[in-house]
Amino acid sequence: MHREFASNSSCHIVIIGAGVAGLACARYLTHSLKNKSYKITILEARDRVGGRTLSIPELNLDLGASWIFSPHTAALSLVRELNIGTIDQYEDGISLMKSGSDVRRMHLGEIHNGAIRLKGGSGSLCATLLNELTTKNQTTVAVQLNSPVISITYETNQKINIELRDKKSIVGDYVVLALPPKLFISTIKITPQLPKSLIEELNDCDTWMASTCKAILQYERAWWKDQKLSGFAVSRQSNAQEWHDASSDTCNALFVFCLPGTTKQQVIDATVKIFGNEATIPTAVHMVDWSNERFTSGSTDHSFGGHAHASNICRQSQWNGRLWFGNSEVSNAHGGFIEGAVRRGAQVANQLTELIVGK
Ligand SMILES: Cc1cc2nc3c(=O)[nH]c(=O)nc-3n(C[C@H](O)[C@H](O)[C@H](O)COP(=O)(O)OP(=O)(O)OC[C@H]3O[C@@H](n4cnc5c(N)ncnc54)[C@H](O)[C@@H]3O)c2cc1C
Repeated sequence: MHREFASNSSCHIVIIGAGVAGLACARYLTHSLKNKSYKITILEARDRVGGRTLSIPELNLDLGASWIFSPHTAALSLVRELNIGTIDQYEDGISLMKSGSDVRRMHLGEIHNGAIRLKGGSGSLCATLLNELTTKNQTTVAVQLNSPVISITYETNQKINIELRDKKSIVGDYVVLALPPKLFISTIKITPQLPKSLIEELNDCDTWMASTCKAILQYERAWWKDQKLSGFAVSRQSNAQEWHDASSDTCNALFVFCLPGTTKQQVIDATVKIFGNEATIPTAVHMVDWSNERFTSGSTDHSFGGHAHASNICRQSQWNGRLWFGNSEVSNAHGGFIEGAVRRGAQVANQLTELIVGK
C-alpha cells in the first residue's frame, strides 16, 4: 500500500495511527487542502486499519466498538456522508439481572440511548474511509500498514524525523499522533521531551475499553427473542458481565463484555447461568481481549470504567505547531467514543489547515 509521491509535493503531514481519528483527520485534510501542494502519509502499526473498531463484516458483528449513540452527531453525519447503512440496536423485551443465585426479570425500557450499529460493523467506517482516501487521493495520500513508529525527533531545520520499528525513517513537516496518549507516552520516544506537566496530563487520559475483553456467541436461532427477552443482561458474579443482542439479518448473536483474561468456556458457562440451557451450544464463539492488544493497551491501562477528560493543554500543538495530539481520548467532547475520534480528527485537520494555508 506504500506509494511514492509526486516530487513537487511541498508540505508533508504524517499521521500516526489509522483508527477512526487518523483516517477522519486525513479525510478532512484532503477536503480543506484541496488545490494546495501537500502529501499525507498514514503510518499504522497493525496489519489492518480501524484500531479499536474491528468487525466481522459479513456477519455485521463487532469485536471492538459497536454503537453510535444519538447525541453523536459528528459520527452520524460522517456515516451518512459515506453512505454506510445502519442497524437499530435491538432491545425489546425483558432484561435479566443476576444477583446471588437469583435472576431478576425487568422491563427496562430504553437501554441504549437510541444507539445504532453499522452494516458491516463499525469497521466499515474505517474501511470506507480508507477506500475513499486511497482511490480519490491516489497522488496525495499513502497508507503504510505494519509500520509501528518508535521515535519522533524534531530536527533543528524544523523537519520531523519519524523512525519505524524496522529502522526505516520518514521525514515530515507536521505530525499528528492519532493513537491513545497513554500508549504513545510509553511506546514512542519523543525528542525533545514534552513538558513534564503535559506528559502527566496525557498519562491521565485513560484509554477507553483498553482493558476489556469482548466475546460474541453466535447461535442457530435467536432463542432469547422467542422467550421475549431483550438479550440485555448483567451479572457481576462472573468474568462475563454484560450481554447485548448483536443479531442482524445475517446472524443471531449475543455479545458479552468480560473482564480481561476470560476464557470462551467461562463466557458460555456464565451465559447458561443467566439465560438458561438454550445458551449451551453456540455455533461459533469470537473473542478479543483488548488488554492483550499491544497497539491499544499499555501495561498501565486499566480503563474499563471511565472516559478520558483531557484538559485543554492536551489539545495544544507542540514544537511551533508541528506536533499534534489527535485521537479520541484528547477530544474536547465525547472522549473515548467514536464521536470523539471523528471530532478530534476534524478539529486537528481544521487547525492544521489554518496554519498551512495561512503561511
Ligand atoms: C471493546 C470495545 C468496545 C467499544 N465500544 C464502543 C462503542 O460502542 N461506541 C463508541 O463510540 N466507542 C466504543 N469503543 C471505543 C472506540 O472504539 C474508540 O473511541 C475509537 O475507535 C478510537 O479511535 P482512535 O482512532 O482515536 O483510536 P484507536 O482506534 O485506538 O486507533 C489508534 C491507531 O493507532 C495505531 N497505533 C498504535 N501504536 C502505534 C504506533 N506506535 N505506530 C503506528 N500506529 C500505532 C493502532 O494500531 C490504531 O490503529 C469501544 C472500544 C472497545 C475496545
